[in-house]
Amino acid sequence: MINLISKHKCCKKVQPESPLPFTKLFLPRILTKGSPISIQIVFLLLTKSSFPEAFNPINNAFTTQPMEFSTYSFSTKKVLLRVDFNVPIDKVTFEILDDKRIKAALPTINHIINHNGIPILLSHFGRPKNGPENQFSLIHIVSRLEELIQKPIIFCKNLEEAERRGKDVCPGEVMLLENVRFYPEETQGDLAFAERLASLGDCYVNDAFGSAHRAHASTTQIALHFPTDKMMGFLMAEELACANKILQNPQKPFTAIVGGAKVSDKVLIIENLLNIASDIIIGGGMAYTFVYAQGGSVGSSLLEKDKVDVALSILHKAKEKGVNIHLPQDSIAASSFLEHTETSIVPTHSIPYNWMGLDIGPESIARFCDVVSKSKTILWNGPMGVFEWERFELGTKSLAFALAEATEKGSFTLVGGGDSASAIAKFKLSHRVSHVSTGGGALLELFEGKELPGIKALT
Ligand code: ATP
Repeated sequence: MINLISKHKCCKKVQPESPLPFTKLFLPRILTKGSPISIQIVFLLLTKSSFPEAFNPINNAFTTQPMEFSTYSFSTKKVLLRVDFNVPIDKVTFEILDDKRIKAALPTINHIINHNGIPILLSHFGRPKNGPENQFSLIHIVSRLEELIQKPIIFCKNLEEAERRGKDVCPGEVMLLENVRFYPEETQGDLAFAERLASLGDCYVNDAFGSAHRAHASTTQIALHFPTDKMMGFLMAEELACANKILQNPQKPFTAIVGGAKVSDKVLIIENLLNIASDIIIGGGMAYTFVYAQGGSVGSSLLEKDKVDVALSILHKAKEKGVNIHLPQDSIAASSFLEHTETSIVPTHSIPYNWMGLDIGPESIARFCDVVSKSKTILWNGPMGVFEWERFELGTKSLAFALAEATEKGSFTLVGGGDSASAIAKFKLSHRVSHVSTGGGALLELFEGKELPGIKALT
């Protein structure tokens, strides 16, 4: 159980501020599925900009017009490109299990190559604690990257090698530096380290949306060395444009689906969403704290007793603001936290002693899917149950299909969060929603109303 529920996110209170008009926001080239770029831009320009209560950190960051990636002259320049190649790999064979993040960076890499620039790729990979470790080496992604860009990669094992070989790189070549987190200075946001990285290039592009919430040397401090020649890549722009479609002025009804393990991870996002959503569906392990707060018996389901007050306050605020909160009426309860244990469909308010809710039940599925089918905008963060086990995947799977159907009918659907993205990929529906974000924590922080340091640094 610990493995499945050990995600923790920081929860600091952010004061709401007035958003700036959207027309002051960057107008990047947006590579969104479905419609041509020009239509996307027109749509974004026409989007109304006033949302009085919800704090929109994207608008807040862009008080000045940032450099435009698609028109910048890259010719013969060494382009420091921060990407997020933090992909899951098999711990024994080092085989890449999901290359979505690498593929997502390709439009930006190829644009630089096609415009005669020399990409010098920087990325982190996992969480090494004490310097270089083979399991966290970016060497494991080199051959996949070479296949995808159809070019050999100059892989530099350390900064010294990058400094040496970087002097002679020419247009047509691509360089990749070893995991920046092999240097503790990276996560410390060390200025001298950032300066060393910066000296490798003539300009800086950040396309690592998944790391934009980290104030690390290669995502934030490095940008100080490029007062004008710094910009976001296509992926970052696309991610922000998608988030902005919801933060700015979502087409109503707007439903947010919030699930996953812990209330504490999602308090801020729910509080910010109370300002813009019509409906909030709460599922997964976190729902039981809400049910308990309302006086229900939740057996040994996930419960954060210290968050009962928070849950009550959210329910109270929702009522005041006229937001419908949907909690699961029934659950698939299990006699133990095991995949092949005894199960029973029970009312969520009266889960038997020592039993635990591991998925939402059929009535809840029907009601939640009905809400989704009537929504024009849907944001989904966090699964409805222990979807990793087939016997507890039905709630998450049904909602995933409901999202796909809503998308086909013209609704805008955004899925974010590591586990939510894995769930939608497991059900082979990633291509049937409007956008699956490459950011977990970063997307969450945007919707919590926080300013992302990696984005702020580009202004
Ligand atoms: P991430 O935090 O990686 O971005 P996420 O926000 O999509 O992902 P999390 O909040 O981490 O989702 O929660 C996902 C985890 O919650 C899954 O491992 C899932 O098995 C677990 N989970 C969901 N419902 C329950 C439940 N009823 N009981 C126990 N665990 C649950």
